[in-house]
Amino acid sequence: MLSAEQLADKVGAYHPDADLALVRRAYAFSQRAHDGQLRKSGDPYFIHPVSVAGIISELKLDVASVCAALLHDVVEDTEVTEADLEREFGHEVAFLVDGVTKLSKINFASKHDRTAESFRKLVVAMSRDIRVLVVKLCDRLDNMRTLEHMSDEGKERIATETMDIYAPLANRLGLARFRDELQDLSFKHINPDAHLDVSRSVDATAASRDAGIARVCQSLTGKLAQQGFACHVTGRSKHLYSIWRKLQERQCTFEQVYDLTAFRVVMESVSDCYAALGVIHSLWTPVPGRFKDYIALPKPNMYQSLHTTVFGPGHQRIEVQIRTHEMHGVAEHGIAAHWRFREKISGGLDPKDAAQFAWLRQLMESQDELKDPAEFLESVKIDLFQDEVYVFTPRGDVRAFPRGATPIDFAYSIHTDLGDHCNGARINGGLAQLAYKLRNGDLVEILTSPDQRPHKEWLDWALTAKARGRVRSYLRETQREKSMKLGRDLLEKELHLANISLVKIEKSPAEAGRLCEKLGYPRLEDIFVHVGYGKLKAQDVVLAVAPKEEPDSSRPTLPPAAIRQGRIEAFMRKVTGRNSHGVLLNGVDDVLVRYTKCCNPLPGDEIVGFLTRGRGVTIHRRNCEKGFEADPERRVAVAWDPKAQINRQVQLSVTTANRPGILATVGQTFHLAGINLSEAACRAGLDGRAENMFTFLCADLAQLKNVMKRLGKIDGVVEVRRV
Ligand code: MN
Repeated sequence: MLSAEQLADKVGAYHPDADLALVRRAYAFSQRAHDGQLRKSGDPYFIHPVSVAGIISELKLDVASVCAALLHDVVEDTEVTEADLEREFGHEVAFLVDGVTKLSKINFASKHDRTAESFRKLVVAMSRDIRVLVVKLCDRLDNMRTLEHMSDEGKERIATETMDIYAPLANRLGLARFRDELQDLSFKHINPDAHLDVSRSVDATAASRDAGIARVCQSLTGKLAQQGFACHVTGRSKHLYSIWRKLQERQCTFEQVYDLTAFRVVMESVSDCYAALGVIHSLWTPVPGRFKDYIALPKPNMYQSLHTTVFGPGHQRIEVQIRTHEMHGVAEHGIAAHWRFREKISGGLDPKDAAQFAWLRQLMESQDELKDPAEFLESVKIDLFQDEVYVFTPRGDVRAFPRGATPIDFAYSIHTDLGDHCNGARINGGLAQLAYKLRNGDLVEILTSPDQRPHKEWLDWALTAKARGRVRSYLRETQREKSMKLGRDLLEKELHLANISLVKIEKSPAEAGRLCEKLGYPRLEDIFVHVGYGKLKAQDVVLAVAPKEEPDSSRPTLPPAAIRQGRIEAFMRKVTGRNSHGVLLNGVDDVLVRYTKCCNPLPGDEIVGFLTRGRGVTIHRRNCEKGFEADPERRVAVAWDPKAQINRQVQLSVTTANRPGILATVGQTFHLAGINLSEAACRAGLDGRAENMFTFLCADLAQLKNVMKRLGKIDGVVEVRRV
């Protein structure tokens, strides 16, 4: 085990200005906190955090990361709180420890492929700072190295999790060595027989292979030296898991897999690398299609090297990687190489750093095993994790949602029925409202009631297309049902006046079919709906059933419906004082028009109309949300009547500096624009600003835009907004 001094020396060696006193204090603090605790092996627990800190220092990470490694288990396993850490070691260290602690609490229940990717996303998203992820990886690496003492069941679970989640993450961070070791350690516990097989074969051939490796290294070094190149050549056996994978993929025996070794040639310069490639290809025949130039075209994680496979001595395939010293550093330390000398990262990254780290986004996209890289990308922006949240189902599966999503979105993502009837949620065991905004790592359980139905206000809370679409279509369906009922009632009464029984028509398929055919509707219900919406006049249906006869003068009748309707409209206009002229409905201008309060359309605005029951046509602005909620069947084409002179009431909110004379200028501006104010309400705020609300009649959008533009130009006016 490293002593405090040894650890401080290691950090000081790559980071001369580092606050080594902080490292020593963290060491002593952790030692005290874990005092008396033992690992399953019987060793003192403290050995573990020190080992993790040692791995972190090998990656040459900053002091905060080293301290976080030392302290990573104290909040979870001892009496120490996050507040204690913040007080003792500052925000940065406390923040990193908190991140690692949170990751430790995730329980990876499923190893299904699709889910594994979600878990990886969750881990990255919850890390928030990439250093949290690296500390967690080092923690896992040390745990895997000392896994022997766990129960078999525990071993397999941790090994599977490592294989599915942490090894791929190490790969994405460019930590290839970590990936290899994590894979080999996991392989050993997941598939002990295969592991034993492969390692026996590798061991049995080790002596001859080692000799072979030495021979190749020697001849390569000699040949390059002959050409005047300084170089460093190493060879190594590939890691067991990758050999096993090759055996599986190629369905061959161990003896048939030749490229078990990989050689690395480190050169002084880029041009030397290409020269070395020439030398190697002249020495041994290259295997066609295996040359890759990652120097000219670096991998997204900044990895650079030339790769080639050649038929080496004894016509055995060998892989050779050629790179410079700098490239070697990046290949060994991956992403960690890039922070090495970063003094401080407080919270997120400043914009300058963020730009430097833009490559990280590509890095995440680089790996082959990613099925949907674009989707993953969206969630891995280091300090830009705002876009998605990851939550757990009661079964332990992870689901991703857009940030701001609520239990309604969650419920609909599981099942439409669950969504329709949800009336609350349990979040991490506690009750929560449907409007609750989901947070990373939440365990979500939906509460339902058989009487619950989707509500209009759910549209304010639901974010996902699935939930919103379902709520909308439910609301439309109910609207349609109501209209159908209303239409049927209307029709029944109208038919009754003509001594016809609707019930009789309904009971006779032949009669109903005739009527439908005559009016051009597929079913009787469609006729009801259209009558209910006012698209079809009830008396037209009556005429279709019983063509007009001579009026029976002996019986007093009500005036025809059309006349009645006209009277009602005239009456409404009289009462409301509203001139309904102004909007053309299918070219007809005499309709009862209601302008909605939600979007208050003005002549010039793009508009849509919706037929309402008994209230004529409601006019919305085309982009009004409320309009989208209405049944499209009620929609009618409307246009502003260019001939009509209408004045509509409009409100403008004008924010100004609160200073003398400014209101007079604003008032004057309205006057100059030909507008008479009908109401003005002014309120001075504490921030030295005044909120002014002006109400006036406006002829059209052009006039409104004109006055808004003029107001905006006044010195001291901060904002002009249409209400
Ligand atoms: Mn640990």
